[in-house]
Amino acid sequence: MTTDRLGENAASRPLGRLVGDDVEVPVGGATRRYVDLDAAATTSASAAVVRAVQDFLPWYSSVHRGAGAKSRYSSARYEEARETVLRFVGADPATHVALFPRNTTEALNVVAFRLALTRGDVVVTTAVEHHANLLPWRRHAQLRVVDVDRRGVFDVAAVVAALDETPRPRVLAVTGASNITGWAPDLPAVAAAARERGVLVVVDGAQLVPHRPVTLAASGIDVLAFSGHKMHAPFGAGALVLPRRLLADGEPFLVGGGAVRAVSYEEVLWADPPDRDDAGSPNVVGAVALAAAAEELAADRETRRGREDALVRALDDELATVPGLRRLGPTSGDRLPVAAFTLDGVPHGRVATWLADGYGIGVRNGCFCAHPYLTRLLGLSDDEVRRFHADARADRYDLLPGAVRVSCDAT
Ligand code: PLP
Repeated sequence: MTTDRLGENAASRPLGRLVGDDVEVPVGGATRRYVDLDAAATTSASAAVVRAVQDFLPWYSSVHRGAGAKSRYSSARYEEARETVLRFVGADPATHVALFPRNTTEALNVVAFRLALTRGDVVVTTAVEHHANLLPWRRHAQLRVVDVDRRGVFDVAAVVAALDETPRPRVLAVTGASNITGWAPDLPAVAAAARERGVLVVVDGAQLVPHRPVTLAASGIDVLAFSGHKMHAPFGAGALVLPRRLLADGEPFLVGGGAVRAVSYEEVLWADPPDRDDAGSPNVVGAVALAAAAEELAADRETRRGREDALVRALDDELATVPGLRRLGPTSGDRLPVAAFTLDGVPHGRVATWLADGYGIGVRNGCFCAHPYLTRLLGLSDDEVRRFHADARADRYDLLPGAVRVSCDAT
């Protein structure tokens, strides 16, 4: 047994067993089918992805570095995966490239670094962001944050005002959908406003891409980041899709073999994009898995959407019947199948443990890596936010504010 940050015991062995495609977990004296209501955190590999990985495993080899048959095949599959990702998000291969960072977090760190921002630059972002789309920008530039109203949403006019009030903003960094409330802003409208003002539009697609089609060319998005593990591929490969021109100059985020044409102690000649930003042996198995997941999603968007909209309605209806339950975020408009709530007088950790131990239901609780948004949704005062930080500093994790999140998808 190990102890995690919340002071709970984390099992080092599976708590349940596989029965066909299902997992059964002990509940009381019996076993129950595990109900995974934590799809916004991670999804398990789909059958199509498992097949693609199994088929490829005997063949993977070093990419772009060998003349052998396996190496050539691996290189071809890797490049094919790039093309699949570009097609999946409607990006023009003549102008855009796809990279395979580990996940959305790494993707956004890469793009924030590659833009060579300075302390004088301003990035317009929103109060809805996951830390992955906040901290990389905060590291390199000043932030102008578009605030949310009491329901936890902002409107297009607020983004326009922030863009207009900021002298020469460089970037609009905005989420495609919130990982706490599932709310999806009007992306085409905010992207159009930014583009009209010559501002680069960077979208955190970690939540949106698994649930909605995204077409870069049509929606005015310049840069899109997402994670394979939220769309039924395993951990370790995400995607960063961006205009080739942004990578044409300057040093890459990671430096090393594969990113160069020639190296001496005096001079480094960098490779052209995308190789320049692909130092080290790439995760070609992850790229193949991500491409398989993308193809599977693209083939079935409409039926999935219908099933997910039904799940959103069911979530809304069921949660409305629970006494003392307070929903966070909007309960109307375009939302993914994600809902967060608090229960009067019951700590969020207790609710999550009770669902797991009493019913075999897996949910997430806590602050969801989006502390500024969560504190706004909970309506915390400045003093309460200061206390939150003091408790976190003192490792008093059981006192931290938080909520419970249930999330699912059509799979
Ligand atoms: N952005 C959003 C909206 C997310 O929900 C997440 C993960 O929960 C991330 C970014 C970070 O994703 P990853 O942990 O795969 O880097």
